[in-house]
Order: sequence, then C-alpha cells, then structure tokens
Amino acid sequence: MNFYHCFGHAVGAWPQRTALYAGHRPYATFAALDLRARQLAAGLVRLGLAPGDRVAIMMGNRCEYTEIMLACWAAGLCIVPINAKLHPREFAYVIGNSGARACLTTSSLAESLTEGLCGNALSCRILCCDLPDYARLFAAEPMAVVESDSADCAWLFYTSGTTGRPKGATITHRNLWFMSLGYIADSGPIDTRTHALMVAPQSHAAGLLLVAYLTRGAAAVVPESGGFDPVEMIPLINHFGGARFFAAPTMVKRFVESPEIGALEVPRLDTIVYGGGPMYIADTLRALDTLGPRLWQIYGQGETPCTISYLSREMHAASDHPRFLERLASVGMARTGISLRVVDEDMKPLPVGEVGEIIVRGETVMRGYWENAQASAGALRDGWLRTGDLGFLDVEGMLTLRDRSKDLIISGGSNIYPREVEEVLQSHPGVREVAVIGVPHPEWGEEPVAYVVMHAGHEPAADSLEQVCLENIARFKRPKRYVFVAELPKNNYGKILKTELRTWAAQEGDDRP
Ligand code: AMP
Repeated sequence: MNFYHCFGHAVGAWPQRTALYAGHRPYATFAALDLRARQLAAGLVRLGLAPGDRVAIMMGNRCEYTEIMLACWAAGLCIVPINAKLHPREFAYVIGNSGARACLTTSSLAESLTEGLCGNALSCRILCCDLPDYARLFAAEPMAVVESDSADCAWLFYTSGTTGRPKGATITHRNLWFMSLGYIADSGPIDTRTHALMVAPQSHAAGLLLVAYLTRGAAAVVPESGGFDPVEMIPLINHFGGARFFAAPTMVKRFVESPEIGALEVPRLDTIVYGGGPMYIADTLRALDTLGPRLWQIYGQGETPCTISYLSREMHAASDHPRFLERLASVGMARTGISLRVVDEDMKPLPVGEVGEIIVRGETVMRGYWENAQASAGALRDGWLRTGDLGFLDVEGMLTLRDRSKDLIISGGSNIYPREVEEVLQSHPGVREVAVIGVPHPEWGEEPVAYVVMHAGHEPAADSLEQVCLENIARFKRPKRYVFVAELPKNNYGKILKTELRTWAAQEGDDRP
C-alpha cells in the first residue's frame, strides 16, 4: 500500500485543521496539503516522470519539502533526500548513483548543483521550488494516488558516509508504514495538540517522522530560518505548546546551554526526541535537570529508519531506579515489532553483558542497498540486518552501544571501546567535546588517542584528564596522547567523523620526529 495513505487518513479526519506552519504563519490545512500534493504529483507526471522513477530533493527545511515528499509518493515516485550542505562532489555522486531523473531544489542551490553534475547525472532535471516554474506545476488537475506495491522503493536514503562512499538504503512503502506506526506506538501520545518543530534536517529522521505526526492530526512547524536556533525555537515552543522536536545530541546540548533557555516555558515543551549519535550521561543529566523528563531517545540507522530501540520518557524520569545511570547510558529496549540480538562473528547470540554486533529484524529493515548486491549480501543475512554497531544487552533487555565495529580499538590484544573512554573524559568539567580513536602503534597494534575541545576559558589539561581516567577506567584504556583542537570534524548531520580524525592522526604521525 502506498505510504501516502498514512497521511491520507488524517485528511479525512481533520480536513480543516492546519497541517503545516511556516514559523507562526499557517501554510496549509490537511485538505489543502492533500490537494497541493496531488496537483504537484500530476505536474511531475506531466513532465514525464513515471512510477518507480527517482526524484532527488535537495533543500533546507521548508514547507515545500513536505508537499514535495507527499507529491512524489502520490505519483508513485521514489524520493532521494539529499542534505543541502553536502559537497558538490557528494551530491553529484548520489544523483548519478540513484539515477534520479529530477531534482527539486531552491534557486540558491541550483547553480552549484548544476555545476557539480557530470556523467549520467547530467540528464537530471533541476526544478526550483522558489521560482515560477514550480508554481506552474500546480496548474494540473489533482491526480488520484498511485496504488504502489508496498515493496516499491519510497525513500532511497544514502547513508551519511562516516565511513567510505555512501550507499543507498532502499526503504519501501511498507518500511515507512511500520516506521510510522511504531513511532506512534512507542513515542507517547501524539494528537491534535502536538506540534512538531522541524529543526533537524528534513532529509533525515525529522522529515520522515513528520508523516507520523500528520497521521495523528498533529501539525508540523517549520521555523523561518529552516534550522536549529534556540532564539527562534523558544518563542515558537511557547506559542504553540505540545512541542516536540527531533535533535541530534549535539543540538540538545546547544539547546540546554543556550543563553535563551530561561525564556522557555518548560511545560509548553512536550518531548525532545534525540538520537543519531551518542549522548553522554553528563549531557543527559543536565538536560533532565533543566527540562524535566522530556527526553525520548531513539537508536536507528538509515537501513532501518529511526527504528531499532528506544529509551522512553518514563525511563528518563525513573531516577530512583537502581540502574538509572546505566539505563541513561543505554539506548533502551527494542522498539515495537523489532527483534534485536547481540551476536558473535558467526551470528550466534551472545550472553547478557558480552559485547558483539547488533543485528535486527523487523518490517522496517530495508530491502537492500540500491544496485549493490555485494553490500546488500554483507548487510542482510537470513532476514537479519547487520548494523555494524557493537553493543551488549543487560538482564532487563536494555541495549548499550559501544561503538561502530570499525571504531573499536584493539591494543595489545585487548578491546578498548572509545565510547567508554569518551564518557569518562566528558565528565571533566572543562571538556566540551571529545573523540577517542585508535592510531597504529608498532608494539601494541593500536593505541588510543583523544581529540579534545575544551570549554571557553578552560586551559588544555592533559594531566587532569589523565587523572580522571586513572580514577575511572583500567590503565590500558586511557589515551596515550591528548590533542587539543578548536573543533572536531563533523558531517552534515552533526556526527563526528572519526575517519577524518584518523587522517589527522596519520598526518601528525608523519610530522613527528
Ligand atoms: P545514519 O544511518 O546516518 O542514521 O547513522 C546511523 C548510526 O548512528 C547508527 O548505526 C549508530 O552507529 C549511530 N546512532 C544512531 N542512533 C544512536 C543513538 N541513539 N546513540 C548512539 N549512536 C546512535
């Protein structure tokens, strides 16, 4: 069944309610959004696009994003979301690899887009949603929603590429249905009082989850800036109430530490849904202290969008639980409909407490990687998705992530999980951000090195960092070197790029006497 009908349900139930706001301004009711989406779908078909064709969307957050997504699904087209901040070489690769026949963008991005394209991507038609051509696409009579097969690709998500070249995870209509229903089941009540703020990129989790909100009659609010800025968000939260937003852990930290946070009417904030990268306990505790238990964590990946495990609001609130801190350091329990295991190299389940690869099975798991049978065979085994993440389960079935398997450090035959060392270093009051990587060592194979960003006003403090490690973790795990930097390299979703750090380390190594 076409995923469009997930939204279509709400159109019948709440036609006259506002579905989308641009800042404080209503943009479209559910009925108007449905009409616009099906008109635009007809306009795209008139351009020669046919069911199954891929259509890239490359723009920052804006209301048009949602109508374009809905239009693509209505016309049976497959969306290829592209982060607007990608390098021209990167988006040219995604357009070429996916064979996208059209790309919807904005006039400010169109030039670099056109310059970047080469090879078969040159035939991709560029359409700017802020130019008159776009408005003309709505002249067509609205079309009926195409009855796509539930196994058809609806969302071709290129992995954010913290390692190697991005691969397209083929996400079907069925995957998106189950992702949305699972979100509604697990994330706490969503209703017509809920307002979802689009402050993280719509090309990622925030954009996908938006449909789950609309399904329950909730509205989405796209800030005028299209981005994450507490100065803009706080008045919107205070105005709308019932506010939720998806944020990467670094954004949650920025939000809580922002000078404007005192102006937030805390009860008007419903929930911050965070995930996509590790959140350190010190930051979670600070957020809970400032906001109360308004946090909900998800662990997912592009290959099973937004859906592997979760740490509920209740678990964030249960500070009297004997394992409260361990729970906060975990990514919680398996999501509704997801089977989850921790296994060894032969895919055999490991006992409680033992670290292995996390594998998952469920209706949200991708069909495979786009035109990449080899990578698909590596990732999908007997119906299980190999996540490439390492972790362990506890007696309650709570999952704690260690690291991506590629980030694990093996020093003198012992495993060192960078996350554990980072967690300890993060507890030092002077540390703003930290990342630990393994660098080659002639005797030990690898040794841990920490890249540290200090808070303004704090001097680099290798000695006291060493002391914190000695007090909290085994000696062999402590970094053998500290490199103090102004910033850590991050990708466009705010994830720290350890591959980049390894390149830095190799260069430093070359420079060393
Ligand atoms: P992406 O496919 O770009 O969304 O990246 C997915 C990866 O981000 C996962 O495989 C994890 O390594 C990491 N990740 C996602 N959610 C979390 C979380 N809640 N805590 C820690 N890491 C996470």
